[in-house]
Amino acid sequence: MSKFLSQRLLSLAPYVPGEQPQDKKYIKLNTNENPYPPCKGAFEIMNDTEAANLKLYSDPECKLLTKAASNHFGIKPENIIFGNGSDEILAFAFTAFCDKDTGAAFPNISYGFYKVFAELNCLDYTEIPLNEDFTINPENYYNAGKTIFIANPNAPTGIMLSVSDIENILKNNPDNVVVIDEAYVDFGGESCVPLINKYENLLVVQTFSKSRSLAGARLGFGIGCKELIDDLQRVRNSNNPYNINRLTQAMGAASITDFDYFKECTNKIISTRTYLTDELQKRNFAVLSSKTNFVFAKSSKTKGEDLYLKLKEKGILVRYFNKTIINDYLRITVGTDEEIKSLISAIDEIEV
Ligand code: PMP
Repeated sequence: MSKFLSQRLLSLAPYVPGEQPQDKKYIKLNTNENPYPPCKGAFEIMNDTEAANLKLYSDPECKLLTKAASNHFGIKPENIIFGNGSDEILAFAFTAFCDKDTGAAFPNISYGFYKVFAELNCLDYTEIPLNEDFTINPENYYNAGKTIFIANPNAPTGIMLSVSDIENILKNNPDNVVVIDEAYVDFGGESCVPLINKYENLLVVQTFSKSRSLAGARLGFGIGCKELIDDLQRVRNSNNPYNINRLTQAMGAASITDFDYFKECTNKIISTRTYLTDELQKRNFAVLSSKTNFVFAKSSKTKGEDLYLKLKEKGILVRYFNKTIINDYLRITVGTDEEIKSLISAIDEIEV
């Protein structure tokens, strides 16, 4: 680091994304990307006219995309804001809704970025332990006195909290925003979006990176009551009003209107997830019940780090977390059937 780095960033540990090695071609089951391509409409956007139009700024109001998404979700345009990935919406929420003295609360095992955003904003934060079975106890979040961030389903566990449990958390925190990060909700979970008109403290965050195969386009969004969205717009317009590029806006609109393709892909992933879970359980892995496009599983024979390294040697990347409690688990993205069959064969070769 340089001698110029701000004092407040000296102890910050930045987020470490899943590895993207370039030394050979891997079966990538480590960053929860969708194995299927984006919808056809997204491909059609990439033409000469759109390329020529890149000389113009993108629409800061994302009008077409907002219209498509508000129709899809049955909400008003004023209830939604788009971000450069849902990470950006989360970043806006930390800036907009957390104060130094109150800060943030989130589960001790959850999306690693919550802690990074809290530290970046110099906030006090509480990491609330999961139950021993990796579930969230909603009562631990009652009257938290902090802005709450919960991934639902949670990552990396894949476990879902019911909407009624979340309603209880909302009711018991009337003076604080509760952010429900639904990055993985489209793989069999239940969304809290229908609750936004009932709870002024609810912000739901979703992404196009997982169920809509647009991770590289960087598009996420927040849904909530008008006032919360206005607060987030205030932060966005003080950072980068052109945060969504032209191509991404158009691809997002195409994707959200192609409901059939979305359903086809998410259904395929759900069925491959069942296959993967069954095959791992047959091999005596402990597998948590997943409502996402990944499973969190522990071998009864091989230590987490060893299995991760041996799979990598065989050209298969999965995610290993060097963190107590979960360091024998691997997070495995649900790929295509073929990719998952290769994974299972590799495990059989490793664990003979
Ligand atoms: N929330 C959770 C729980 C995630 O796992 C991720 C992806 N790593 C994100 C948010 C951010 O995804 P994106 O910025 O690609 O929308």
